[in-house]
Amino acid sequence: MLQHEDAPDPAPDSDEALVRVKACALNHLDVWARQGLPKVTINMPHISGSDISGVVDWVPPEETRFTTGDEVIVNPGVGCGRCDRCLTGRDDQCSDYKIIGYGTDGGYAELVKVRRTHLIRKPAGMTFEEAASFPLVFETAYHMLVTKARVDPGDTVLVLAANSGVGIAAVQIAKLLGARVIATAGDAEKAEGARHLGADSTIDHYNQDVLGEVKRLTGGRGVDVVVEHVGEATWEGSVKALAKGGRLVTCGATTGADALTDLRYVFSRELTIFGSYMAGMGELLEVVELFDKGRLKTVVDSVFPLAQAGEAQTRMEKSRHFGKIVLKV
Ligand SMILES: [Zn+2]
Repeated sequence: MLQHEDAPDPAPDSDEALVRVKACALNHLDVWARQGLPKVTINMPHISGSDISGVVDWVPPEETRFTTGDEVIVNPGVGCGRCDRCLTGRDDQCSDYKIIGYGTDGGYAELVKVRRTHLIRKPAGMTFEEAASFPLVFETAYHMLVTKARVDPGDTVLVLAANSGVGIAAVQIAKLLGARVIATAGDAEKAEGARHLGADSTIDHYNQDVLGEVKRLTGGRGVDVVVEHVGEATWEGSVKALAKGGRLVTCGATTGADALTDLRYVFSRELTIFGSYMAGMGELLEVVELFDKGRLKTVVDSVFPLAQAGEAQTRMEKSRHFGKIVLKV
């Protein structure tokens, strides 16, 4: 159950900073934290919220990069910073990896404590709401398309649920890499939104046969890359939509994890399946640079006051949104 109540101010350690939250974007993770997931322990009471923008409220005197009053965003993924994975930029593979607002208390609050190495200067010209809307989904899509699937200009990329945060990021990043993009969306308005972001073709995933349309749009060949995050409801079709040598990259299973894979497709077509989970700090900094250069744009669906976090989560659960739903604190 979500409850709006007073909580004690967080007490930061010397390796942490205190951020006065201005905005915090929602992610499906927030709903899972509330509903519970098998084998995941969330200590209650828990404060959700992984995508934070705000103003530095306190840093220890030894901090040299940031000072009180600086406008910042926060890298939502926190590794130990010391293991072989962290030290080679693969923080997301650290055995101690936590997502802020999931493994720790997060940004549905006035104040949050975060690792000070995870502060990033807020891109100039962005509102706090826009700045909170991109870190988690854009770093995720960047990791999927650039680091894992290594999309290049010859590729055709199928992006599922282009209205979602990851979908919106994936359409833009795939276009930036020079690919042809086919996006699925749940209605005509969302399809229009996806085309506006650069999708070359769209498929209505409720009223059209996605696999049939993919084949039609690619002359029977299939796509080179599928961006999966839907899971059980789409997985089988996603595997079958791939051309020979195709790559499927998945970062989630919103509709369930018990998906069926026809292995004959995997070996006879020489497919590759990539798992993808968040990203390293370096990848997020590359995303920030692309925003700074105006190569990517944020899409904010709606803004709710913090006290209406429940209404905001309901909007996301009912898939009414196009873009990120943001809480204003
Ligand atoms: Zn580590």
